[in-house]
Amino acid sequence: GLADLPPVESDSLLQLIALCNADPRPEKIDVGVGVFRDGEGRTPILKVMKEAERRLLETQESKSYLGSAGDKRFAELLRPILLGEHADDDRIVGVQTPGGCGALRLGFELLATANPSARVLIGTPTWPNHPPLVRAVGLEIAEYPYYERGQGSIRFDAMLDALSKAERGDVALLHGCCHNPTGADLDEPQWRQVRDVVVERGLIPFIDIAYQGFGRGLEEDAFGVRLMLSSCDEVIIAQSCDKNFSVYRDRVGSLFLKTGSPEASARAMAHVFQRAREMWSMPPDHGAASARIILDDPQLRSDWLVELAGMRDRINSVRARLAAADPRLAFIGRQFGMFSMLPLSKEQVLKLREDHAIYMADSGRFNVVGMSDAQIDRFIAAVAEALDA
Ligand code: PMP
Repeated sequence: GLADLPPVESDSLLQLIALCNADPRPEKIDVGVGVFRDGEGRTPILKVMKEAERRLLETQESKSYLGSAGDKRFAELLRPILLGEHADDDRIVGVQTPGGCGALRLGFELLATANPSARVLIGTPTWPNHPPLVRAVGLEIAEYPYYERGQGSIRFDAMLDALSKAERGDVALLHGCCHNPTGADLDEPQWRQVRDVVVERGLIPFIDIAYQGFGRGLEEDAFGVRLMLSSCDEVIIAQSCDKNFSVYRDRVGSLFLKTGSPEASARAMAHVFQRAREMWSMPPDHGAASARIILDDPQLRSDWLVELAGMRDRINSVRARLAAADPRLAFIGRQFGMFSMLPLSKEQVLKLREDHAIYMADSGRFNVVGMSDAQIDRFIAAVAEALDA
């Protein structure tokens, strides 16, 4: 019966949030949770989103069902942003999903339907929710080395070597930009080399892009996505708007896929709808409809780009400040997105928590914009002390 269920090892990041919330010290620094914070330490609703929501409330006349594809115009408006020069390729089809998580799950469901014996190659380390999402559909996981924490660099040769040993039809899960948890992104020549191996071995690239616009820029961050689309017949892309529109809890994302022909893509999409129907039937409307209003209005769209650039500038300026403060933190200035990993042992991470009320993941992953501007100097001093120990 239900009473016989074993206890569940709760998600360590969720545990960390609870621990931090329970800490009464007013000076505590929460660099565990993965949300953008401004200089005052807030995660504000974008001004442009407030305006879009106001318009949505005023104009929406029905909340009748939309169907498994969700807001079709939303997915259409995302095409040029995500796919760039491939926006008009009718072999690429997309659908709204409940956030990036929903897109990942749906993509893995499709792969498991198409080829249950495919393996999914996952970098080490990767976002801790990737392996459970793959396991949930019953696909086998294989790992490729990705990042050397002590060196602050990508283990690129080892990565290529592992990918080049994969079997035809295996899936290479790649982070589009702003790698979580390391911040270490492939540069353009590295993307090209990965592409070469993917093409040569007949692998399917599956790109998870949850932070477009948080790294080098909205266009630049889509480089890997577009490169794979240029070179491969089959590509899967799980996209999230939860960060770049700052609508985390509204669950806004999309799944795009490419096959060799429009007919095959339409057939694959029919399977996608069926899998979606079994899980959530239809994605939630509010966030995607609001994002659609923004993207459909030239003024709101350009306002969004300004606010997005504001978030990116804060991320990159905190990175620059940390990197300049201590040569041992210089690697942080060469990385992108909200996360980096400090070369600290679990004991050192716990000591930071006890002595300084600084909360980061046991792995040493921290959110560079988790701290407010006023907390940065104290963070730097505490981390320097931990690195000296
Ligand atoms: N992929 C990665 C790498 C992420 O970091 C996240 C969010 N933490 C997601 C996907 C999922 O994002 P969402 O909240 O839109 O489901």
